[in-house]
Amino acid sequence: MSGRSPVWHPFHQHGLGEPIPLVERAEGAVLHTADGREVLDVISSWWVITHGHNHPRIVEAIQRQAEQLDQLIFAGWTHQPAEDLARGLRAIMPQELEYVFYSDSGSTAVEVALKMALGFWANRGKPRAKIVVMEHSYHGDTIGAMSVGERGVFNRAYSPLLFDVETIPFPHSGREQATFDALEAACKGGDTAAFIVEPLVLGAGGMLMYPADVLHEMRATCARHDTLFIADEIMTGWGRTGTLLACEQAGVVPDILCLAKGLTGGSMPLAVTMATAPIYDAHYSPDRSKLFFHSSSFTANPIACAAANANLAIWREEPVLDRIASLTAHEAAGFARIAAKYPITNLRQTGSIIAMDVEVEDAGYLADVGLKMRAGLFARDILLRPLGNTLYLMPPYCISDAQLDRTMTAIDEVLAEVL
Ligand SMILES: *Cc1c(COP(=O)(O)O)cnc(C)c1O
Repeated sequence: MSGRSPVWHPFHQHGLGEPIPLVERAEGAVLHTADGREVLDVISSWWVITHGHNHPRIVEAIQRQAEQLDQLIFAGWTHQPAEDLARGLRAIMPQELEYVFYSDSGSTAVEVALKMALGFWANRGKPRAKIVVMEHSYHGDTIGAMSVGERGVFNRAYSPLLFDVETIPFPHSGREQATFDALEAACKGGDTAAFIVEPLVLGAGGMLMYPADVLHEMRATCARHDTLFIADEIMTGWGRTGTLLACEQAGVVPDILCLAKGLTGGSMPLAVTMATAPIYDAHYSPDRSKLFFHSSSFTANPIACAAANANLAIWREEPVLDRIASLTAHEAAGFARIAAKYPITNLRQTGSIIAMDVEVEDAGYLADVGLKMRAGLFARDILLRPLGNTLYLMPPYCISDAQLDRTMTAIDEVLAEVL
């Protein structure tokens, strides 16, 4: 490579001059860089890779599909991979979610969910516009997704473009009633179109966790007041929390479900927004003005759908949940050892996601210690990206105990260095 790269990276401050590793190939939990390093990817390349990089079944499905049909208009046309995937999802997702709408990223799946909710009310002749959200949420980086997410340094400059929402407090332990009361108050006026929430774990907001009974209660409140319940399982889905969906643990079925990230095992960009029959039916009519007005060029791309079908086959035929349970236990033991040694608070875990907060004065997303930990871990060939002073793991399910042990040793050394 000669000269400075013209690539402008996302969520990256080029002005800090951090090294930008060039990765040539990957398998399992390991990234191979151009300069010969083997880096452990313990955050699944930002939460997307579930079974491991380059799972042979997914690679094969992509290769086979690429030779058959690369791309197809999806407005009124269809192809077998999309048909198979929709039926495959119907078979494993809650029965009430009868319809599958395709798009190509998590943010878009959220935009689609919000538009479906407003379309539902508008097409039934009772327009509702209010959206209720939870404090510290993250739902993506497009304008609508940002609007329903936490406001902060990441979107301050764009706030004039964001629409107003009503925010309820995060259900901190012992303060759950404040969350329930706020949701009840927001919904009871009868003008709330939908409540959108990340079930059990708020990811980018700092790996904040709340128990299943809280999720259950929030869902019940929405049902009581006819508020649509949108579950954003873009991060929590596909086994991350120890079950296929986080909603499962609360016995909850949403009206609208957003899935992306692990839908293709993390191999290809693809998302779905699944909806119940009443939501589909509100758009079903001989009247063209009531159709669902959303599409993007790569909606239901056949190669991405083929990759997702291979992911479903892996879920059907391989012991995925056993792998998750095993790595969950190993993570817990490792983090407990580390937390006992350093000024650590709030050690928490939901399935494969484990997190702890390093005590510092400038706690928060811009905490200095985050960058220092990231650099120290990278020097030890570990890819981890702390959220400020929150250190977390979200590894691919193929990670071995030895690889997790190597991660723990590196974390131990780095904490000793930076604290
Ligand atoms: C990552 C994420 C999104 C956005 O998905 P993209 O594919 O990055 O657009 C939305 N919601 C949650 C909970 C996420 O973790």
